[in-house]
Amino acid sequence: MSAASVYTTHSEHETSRVGAALAAGLAPGAVLLLSGDLGAGKTAFVRGLAQGLGVSPDEVTSPTFTLVHEYRGGRLPLQHVDLYRLEHADLDTLGLDEALAEAGIVAVEWPERLRRRPPGAIDVRIDDLGGDRRRVHYSIL
Ligand code: ADP
Ligand code: MG
Repeated sequence: MSAASVYTTHSEHETSRVGAALAAGLAPGAVLLLSGDLGAGKTAFVRGLAQGLGVSPDEVTSPTFTLVHEYRGGRLPLQHVDLYRLEHADLDTLGLDEALAEAGIVAVEWPERLRRRPPGAIDVRIDDLGGDRRRVHYSIL
């Protein structure tokens, strides 16, 4: 199945809801690459993903001091990676739990830092349209 979706959101909550809607259709092993400027809403989107998977949304914050955060207790486990502070990164050496990655979902903020693009990854792009408006775009090939 191939599908591209574009949404214009008007609040952080709406962006999270787009993430939650996407989460419903994700299969184990899915990798999401979230691109967009600082403050675009990538973490808000991941909060929605987690919620859509059934993880408590309060658990999802920006991973400031660790590169990888794990959220369990949902339909699938979620690993949330933020590469902002790295120049170059390699998913293999980030401390991702591979078994968990295979069984669940990996969401990566700042995927531009990755040396290699994970095969089959889903691109999610968030653009600031000014004020509280954001354009959220993703395509599933
Ligand atoms: P990123 O992870 O991309 O740096 P965050 O999700 O941490 O961004 O923060 C997004 C910021 O933008 C938050 O302060 C949020 O309240 C604000 N915001 C305003 N409008 C939106 C919107 N439509 N979608 C997402 N975030 C929004
Ligand atoms: Mg973030």
